[in-house]
Formats: sequence, C-alpha cells, structure tokens
Amino acid sequence: MNPGGQTAIVTGGGSGLGEATARALAARGAKVAVLDLGAERAARVAADIGGVAVQCDVSSAESAAAAITEAMEKLGPARILVNCAGIVIGVKTIGKDGPHPLDQFRKVIEINLVGTFNMIRLFADQASKLDALEGGERGVIVNTASVAAYDGQIGQAAYSASKGGVVGMTLPVARDLARSGIRVCTIAPGIFKTPMMAGMPQEVQDSLGAAVPFPPRLGEPSEYAALALHIVDNQMLNGETIRLDGAIRMAP
Ligand code: NAD
Repeated sequence: MNPGGQTAIVTGGGSGLGEATARALAARGAKVAVLDLGAERAARVAADIGGVAVQCDVSSAESAAAAITEAMEKLGPARILVNCAGIVIGVKTIGKDGPHPLDQFRKVIEINLVGTFNMIRLFADQASKLDALEGGERGVIVNTASVAAYDGQIGQAAYSASKGGVVGMTLPVARDLARSGIRVCTIAPGIFKTPMMAGMPQEVQDSLGAAVPFPPRLGEPSEYAALALHIVDNQMLNGETIRLDGAIRMAP
C-alpha cells in the first residue's frame, strides 16, 4: 500500500522505534496519529510531523478504543497500524530473592502482548469495513516483537514470553484478516539505539554492538522504520516475522 494520503496509527510513537516510524510515514505523505502513554512525548513528535497526538494506554480496551476514535475523527479512517508501544522491566531472575513477582510478569504481558492484540482487534474492526484499494487491500499492520522471543536472556522471562506471544499470533492473525484484505507482519529487532536502551551503561551498549556479526553496532531507529515502510509497501509480505538484528544470536 502506498502510505501517501493514508491515515496511519503508530503506538509508542512518542519515542524510539515508533517515533522514527511516525516520521518516516509522514515523510511519505501519511497522516499520522501518534499514540503514546506519554502525552508530552506524543505531542512533541506530532507537532514536528504535522500529525495528531493522542494519549493512550494500549493495554486498556477503553483507552485504545477512545484513542482510535479520536485519531480517526481528526484524520479519517485508518488503513495502517504500527504497534511499537512496549516496555521492558529491569532484570528479574527467577529463584532469587523469593518468588518472582507475578504483578510484574502480568504487567509486561498486558502491555506488550495484550496491548498489541487489543490494537489489532480494534483497528481491524474498522479497517475491514473500508472500501478495498488496488488488489483488494484494506489495511496493513506491523507489530514489534524482539529477538528476545528466540534468544531469551537471564531475568527476562516476562519480556521474552510477551514477545514470543506476538511472534506466535502473527500468522494466525494474518490468516484471520486475510479475507478482509488486511495484512499483518511482525519485526523482531535486535538491539536498537532508543531511549529504552539508553539506560544501559555505555560500555554494555558498546559490547552489545560489537557482538553483532554485521554490522558490528547497534541498530538505528531509521533502519527499523525503513523495514516497517517496506512492509506497508510490499503487498506480498504477509504473516511473516522478520528478524532485524545483524545476525546476532544472544548468549544467556
Ligand atoms: P521506547 O521506550 O523508546 O518507546 C516505547 C514507547 O512506548 C514509549 O514512548 C512509551 O511511552 C510507550 N508506551 C509504553 N507503554 C505504553 C502503553 N501501555 N500504551 C501506550 N504507549 C506505551 O522503546 P523502543 O526501544 O522504541 O521500543 C519500541 C518497541 O520495540 C517496544 O515494543 C520494544 O519492546 C521493542 N524492541 C526494542 C528494542 C530495542 O533495542 N530498542 C529491541 C527489540 C524490541
């Protein structure tokens, strides 16, 4: 789908990978709704790209539904959804310092996995009612998993489970929505230079970058955005999860 003139919703659009994708979509002529838990972050990006900022918690059915309604009232029906909202909680090793806190496990699953599904179901409900474009296409969805879905790190059971869930639902959701002309793909990034990673000490970031076979560095958010835009453009890409990681395979 050519994003030019289309309405696009980007969750987590106020920072990092979502921000880069919101900017790239706007540069291609899309009308972008920047959805984020952080109202100020969303407003900053939206103001920069001539889009609309909507404060939203993707894990809440009510909040997400209200945000999609508000975005479409301002920009028109949406055909593009990019799910970048997500969190990572500090390392919690199971079997250390008492039982693993269940509330933290649930919180990561609620935002990263349930939040992604919540946005998909609400977006698909309205996109499936739109007139079909060329080739019968009505919409396209890009989700964000992580290489943590495959190479889980110590202390990251919740994060890996949440991202594994996003990978696992990509094909069935794509098959469900195929009859509506809505495509669904997922990007599984390696390690990218975003505010989410900025908390890591510089030497840790440097050694992680050096461990990437090629290119031996961390990914740039613009490289994620370029793949997200390619998925939007390429009608034959559907039901697929694509690793974007410079061939890194993480040790525990
Ligand atoms: P980031 O922290 O820079 O941006 C994430 C954004 O999501 C923030 O603006 C935050 O406010 C928003 N957000 C958090 N919870 C939300 C909620 N409940 N509702 C709405 N918005 C919410 O992080 P990033 O690095 O850009 O990560 C984007 C996505 O990519 C995440 O899903 C993350 O897990 C995934 N990812 C990142 C990396 C990386 O190396 N940066 C690697 C693999 C996967």
